[in-house]
Amino acid sequence: MTTSASWVDRDAAVVWHGFTQMATFADNCPVIVDRAEGHYLIDVAGRRYLDAISSLWVNTLGHRVAELDQAIIDQLGRVAHSTMLGNGNAVVVELAEALSAVVPVADPHFLFAADGAAAVEQAVKMAFQYWVNRGTPRSTYLAFGQAYHGDTVGSLSVGAAGFGTDLFDPLRFPVLRAPGFTSDPDLDTACALIEAHQGELAAVIVEPLVQGAGGMQTAPPSSFHRLGAACRANDVLLIADEVATGFGRTGSLFACEQCDLWPDLLCLGKGITGGYLPMSATVATGRVFDAFLGPPERTFSHGHSYGGNALAAAAALRHLQLLAEWNVLDNVAARAAQLAELLDRQIAADPAVAAIRQRGLMCGVELATPGADSRWGSRVAQACTRRGVLIRPLGDVVVVMPPLTITDDEIRLIIDVLHEAIAEVSHR
Ligand SMILES: *Cc1c(COP(=O)(O)O)cnc(C)c1O
Repeated sequence: MTTSASWVDRDAAVVWHGFTQMATFADNCPVIVDRAEGHYLIDVAGRRYLDAISSLWVNTLGHRVAELDQAIIDQLGRVAHSTMLGNGNAVVVELAEALSAVVPVADPHFLFAADGAAAVEQAVKMAFQYWVNRGTPRSTYLAFGQAYHGDTVGSLSVGAAGFGTDLFDPLRFPVLRAPGFTSDPDLDTACALIEAHQGELAAVIVEPLVQGAGGMQTAPPSSFHRLGAACRANDVLLIADEVATGFGRTGSLFACEQCDLWPDLLCLGKGITGGYLPMSATVATGRVFDAFLGPPERTFSHGHSYGGNALAAAAALRHLQLLAEWNVLDNVAARAAQLAELLDRQIAADPAVAAIRQRGLMCGVELATPGADSRWGSRVAQACTRRGVLIRPLGDVVVVMPPLTITDDEIRLIIDVLHEAIAEVSHR
């Protein structure tokens, strides 16, 4: 206990945590991780926590996967990092080739970065320069209510209100805003806006199937197919942000597959390395890529120091192989069905629960909170964490996002603990 407290004090003295009020950080019993085993994180006092949020949605196969560890060790024996600006790296070529075979993008080309927000930023800038290079500049974007695309100024601009946007509004560029999935699940307004603004819209950006940080808001696959058709019919680029949904999270390798959606630009991140190393990618179709070929002024003026990091690429390549070798999507299907059944049986009827939204192993339990400042979401999350299941909420939505290799028993544990935690917070 003393060790644990002193680690929290040392942390609070020098570390600044994202989206965390540091004045109360130490009072909220933060978990200081020391190591991990499979789906469990182990803190500095030796307590074990089931990682039910996949280390904020990035982990897919659990921690300390022998095969991923080995892939990184092998790559360390070759090179850890070399620049992708003007030169290449063999393992990055191998990764791009492997991804080419599976991404829902025609004739794909990959620009790697390190964070999801950077992948979105790259896509937004590519869409802008695509039209400049074609000699018909456009700078309007259509984005959705409840959308989240990351925290850089560009990705914050296409993102919707509620993630510090009120504060940063003066820095954000204006966009056309279609209603979120909750109020317009058919995406009718978005399709109408695309038609009304054709010729001025550079791109539409959407999170296919599930708006993650917006509270796990969902819309039917057919809506996204229609959205894609509207973009094609009106000659507007489509950016699909699969940073959260990619790599098996919603039941298919990419959510676009369920939607029969073929974006011009695809953003990948989070699960791309199985949750091991920071890597993201913007994937462009051959049509977009070709518009940047020619004289120097057509060159895409963007590139990050660590884009295409070799260690991350080695992990991502091995991860992609393991998803197939271990039939991970079969487990996602089975565990998602089990999760749905247990939620229905143990959680849905609780008067403290307003709604449950789930696609694959991406799930939000919205609490029927008594008031705006009840902080039920974080209190339920803390009650889960005290019981050894690590949860982090989105406001009043309790997120359940376990690793894709989660077991039958572990799903049961998550739901039992969530059931107890909701009862503790709502009934006393
Ligand atoms: C998390 C997320 C991002 C941002 O990714 P970072 O790696 O945190 O920058 C972008 N888009 C979506 C849909 C996300 O869920």
